[in-house]
Amino acid sequence: MSRISYAQSADSVILAHFFETALVKDKAYSDLHDICKQCGSRLSGSDGAAKAVVLVQKILNSMGLDSVWLQDVMVPHWVRGEKEQASISSTVLKLNQSVPVCALGGSVHSTVDGLNAQVIEVKGLGQLEKMNKADIKGKIVFYNEAFDQSFRETFNAYGISVAQRWGGAMEAARYGAVGVVVRSMSQHVDEWPHTGVMGYNDSLVKIPAVAISTKGAELLSESLAKDKNLRFYFKTQCQTLADAPSYNVIAEIKGTEYPNEVIVVGGHLDSWDLAEGAQDDGAGVVQSIEVLRLFKTTGYKPKRTIRFVAFMNEENGGKGGAKYAEWAKTNGERHIAAIESDAGGFTPRGFSMEGSDTLREYVKRAWKPLLDQFEIGSLDDVGAGADVSHLKDNCTLIGELHPDSQRYFDFHHSARDTWENVNDRELEMGAAAMASFVYLIDKYGLGK
Ligand SMILES: [Zn+2]
Repeated sequence: MSRISYAQSADSVILAHFFETALVKDKAYSDLHDICKQCGSRLSGSDGAAKAVVLVQKILNSMGLDSVWLQDVMVPHWVRGEKEQASISSTVLKLNQSVPVCALGGSVHSTVDGLNAQVIEVKGLGQLEKMNKADIKGKIVFYNEAFDQSFRETFNAYGISVAQRWGGAMEAARYGAVGVVVRSMSQHVDEWPHTGVMGYNDSLVKIPAVAISTKGAELLSESLAKDKNLRFYFKTQCQTLADAPSYNVIAEIKGTEYPNEVIVVGGHLDSWDLAEGAQDDGAGVVQSIEVLRLFKTTGYKPKRTIRFVAFMNEENGGKGGAKYAEWAKTNGERHIAAIESDAGGFTPRGFSMEGSDTLREYVKRAWKPLLDQFEIGSLDDVGAGADVSHLKDNCTLIGELHPDSQRYFDFHHSARDTWENVNDRELEMGAAAMASFVYLIDKYGLGK
């Protein structure tokens, strides 16, 4: 038996042990339960976010790690206010129908009486640019670019459609629109509005923006086809308060041979405010905690320092990721890898990576056959999580757990993102996948 196949078979035993331990002990799932049910939604600056910092610190303190600490970070503090109202009305169609909407994160509120105006529909930002600008003035722009169903990977569809959510209000304001309605970011037609961050341009008027459920979007579009003079009404009470103090929660197992070489695992602790942020991104937080726990319970002593980071404020500012990277740079921390989980607790397929082509080829050549034995050998995608992307210039490899994506946008940023909608076994498989990848990086280094 050659040395390589001997090493691979020894590694295969260790990986199998990670999977078995994760599936039998099921700790990530109970941690997720506690985060979701004891803290609730965790938007930056909220009570829920503050409770989650304390709870995650408590979980880490119980694990016998080498250190656990909090890193200060100031975060934006946006609040939704009372539940939004919206309706479509048309005398021609004898229609006065309320529809589900939610304010987009960061939006200004409507006037006290709500906004009531005619609507102009466009399929995304590209189509808005081609419109007669006089037709936009004084109206609500309705962005109705649906997910492209032809993509097998749903994040690719999201990546295109989300441009209208982020840039819609800025572009519409440029031409004198008074408000914005954006089709929710989901591939299904249902009643759930999905929030998410939006942007403003400080040199333009800030107009209020809401997401409408996909079913509501279909109704609005069909009604507009019959009566282009129909009116849309919405009332929101959201506002941005002063920045608030918060924290990244950090913990580590010190490396036995190269303690100054750091491998980060993490997810983001904040969530949107419509639900418990179970898939996005409680799952990533508990899976990353589980990597440290699996190393402890299976007795694997890493050569390098394995550091867990629960990043704060990924959803509406990215302040936690930026703060961590800035601290790491100032401190001269040597990061060899940073692997995030922020794509839901679904069956793991592999990892996306960002690094040099040579390095990515090395990783594939060296470990794909082993990872394939556990069905986590999909390593072709380029990319990394938003929080670890801040480390890009000072880290050899950044990456992200790549789970199956078919159901993610059923839940993402909506009231459906609850603990009950996470499958315990899929969640634990993702944790074991992360532990496996981190184990290989730790044991063999990255070929430098
Ligand atoms: Zn997320």
